[in-house]
Amino acid sequence: MLKTIGAVLSALKKGRATVNYPYEPITPPQNYRGKVQYDSTKCIGCGTCQYVCGGKAIKIDTYNDHFDYILWDAACTRCGMCVEFCPTGALTMSENLHNAILGEEILERIHYKNIPYVRCDICKKYIKPLPDVVYQEILKGNNYAFKENEHICPDCRRKLHAEKLFKGINTLVNR
Ligand code: SF4
Ligand code: SF4
Repeated sequence: MLKTIGAVLSALKKGRATVNYPYEPITPPQNYRGKVQYDSTKCIGCGTCQYVCGGKAIKIDTYNDHFDYILWDAACTRCGMCVEFCPTGALTMSENLHNAILGEEILERIHYKNIPYVRCDICKKYIKPLPDVVYQEILKGNNYAFKENEHICPDCRRKLHAEKLFKGINTLVNR
């Protein structure tokens, strides 16, 4: 009995241990995994996130002139695998604690983005655009040769380099 009274008195002394949420703001714990956020300006459409997503919450549909990025929030388990494996940092976990969804809102919690392709400077075939942030990251090493090829498809790039190599060999041979 005395033990119980002691525990009650000690608890009263410490004061309230819980937060009166939602009437008081709440701070999520460090590294809390909230709603996934998608930044289309960093996405290269590689499909890694779709591959690693166990909940099948991500779907990338590719077309001739664009790709569609679809993230279904209601199917996301907040595991963080997509964020971990995204090579460009296009996906991040927010600290959004509000995960409950009303039944009628389930279909509204779908993030959809249509990302148009650009045309190859040489053959005019559609190619996936390279986001500026990724481009700047590559250029950190001052690889300016890469800049010339930014809007050239892999086939044309191969041909262009083969031609350059061939020209170089010819010059050496005819010296
Ligand atoms: S892993 Fe990242 S860059 Fe690749 S498709 Fe997903 S969001 Fe885009
Ligand atoms: S956090 Fe997990 S379940 Fe949610 S979209 Fe990313 S990989 Fe899929």
